[in-house]
Amino acid sequence: MSNVKLTSVEKHYGSFHALKDISLEIAPGEFVVMVGPSGCGKSTLLKAIAGLEEVSSGSIEIAGRDVTREEPGERGIAMVFQSYALYPHMTVRGNMGFGLKIMKRPADEIEAAVTRAADILRITEHLDKKPAQLSGGQRQRVAIGRAITRQPHVFLFDEPLSNLDAALRTQMRVEIATLHKQLGTTMIYVTHDQVEAMTMADRIVVLRAGVIEQAGAPLELYRNPVNHFVASFLGAPRMNFAEGRVAALGPGGAVIDIPGMPQLTVTELIPDHGLEAGMPVTFGIRPEHLSLVPGSEMIRLSGTLRLSEELGRENVLYVDAGDLRATGSDTGTDSITLVTGERAPPEGSSFAFGFEPRNAYLFRPDGKTVSAPRSVETPPSSDPEA
Ligand code: ATP
Repeated sequence: MSNVKLTSVEKHYGSFHALKDISLEIAPGEFVVMVGPSGCGKSTLLKAIAGLEEVSSGSIEIAGRDVTREEPGERGIAMVFQSYALYPHMTVRGNMGFGLKIMKRPADEIEAAVTRAADILRITEHLDKKPAQLSGGQRQRVAIGRAITRQPHVFLFDEPLSNLDAALRTQMRVEIATLHKQLGTTMIYVTHDQVEAMTMADRIVVLRAGVIEQAGAPLELYRNPVNHFVASFLGAPRMNFAEGRVAALGPGGAVIDIPGMPQLTVTELIPDHGLEAGMPVTFGIRPEHLSLVPGSEMIRLSGTLRLSEELGRENVLYVDAGDLRATGSDTGTDSITLVTGERAPPEGSSFAFGFEPRNAYLFRPDGKTVSAPRSVETPPSSDPEA
């Protein structure tokens, strides 16, 4: 198991600044998933670690060794790509053993490594086939198998499941997570897929425009995003937002005015919130915190159901609700989303819904999160000695 340490890594493509002062320490055996919008620099960072892109400045350490100026083959990494990158004329066995063959390892060692990897990935019966005779999922297993046989210090995955259909993605997701547990090797994984990031990562790194916005455990990032960008990026469906203004500030918290909504008091402010009366703020609420059965303690809202998606276990409702708006373009509209286990009202009908003020997020004009729901509620113990 090996660490990876990035120190002040910068990458310029001519005048374009693709990676900006990236510093990150990845612990031995850690599974780190990098996410961010298209063009944010995920692949560039992965390629820099692999040695496929030279960095402009900064250093990269793998397994305690500075590899910044080393060739990819010397770094002890194995990379799995979205495109599989298998040799079509070689059998699965040939593809999986190829890395060891060019390292001039003895034939029996190659055979043993291929047999072991094929066994782990359950592709033993395909060893004598050519890639063209395999399904997409099987081909990706071969690509992963080829990486395993090299026994790298670190696995690098660049969107490895993007070419697979939804069912296969889920299966392979579980397989890669299982593989990580089995091998214990450090893994760095780039994806667009929220679910992959949330379910596989020990730690998610959110990038924007070449900068690390936040790195942390998946639920930590989901519950306590440092800013509006991370809040809006993580979560499917995404967080709903509305623009408001601080009406008053006091020891009890911040009173917020949001057009079309009853006044809201946010009590859980961070100590250095920097809010002032009159300051514009952005309010946020996750879709699962909106309820179709608004209790008396809730902030009540009303909206019109545009569309409902019945997913069996839960329903996703797209609701037109005045000044509340969704992030991004999940539906290509400004409808907000509400996730509920309750039955959806008829499409086109108006209905009431609500949320508990303690579940509100609040962001400053500069994007910084100044209030997030308290995630774990531990009831105070009546016996201090307990
Ligand atoms: P995606 O999710 O779309 O793959 P990404 O986050 O992986 O995006 P990168 O491929 O790392 O993004 O690219 C980061 C930025 O660097 C992009 O704006 C891209 O246009 C730019 N870029 C990448 N490679 C080059 C290159 N060889 N020359 C110039 N610019 C480049």
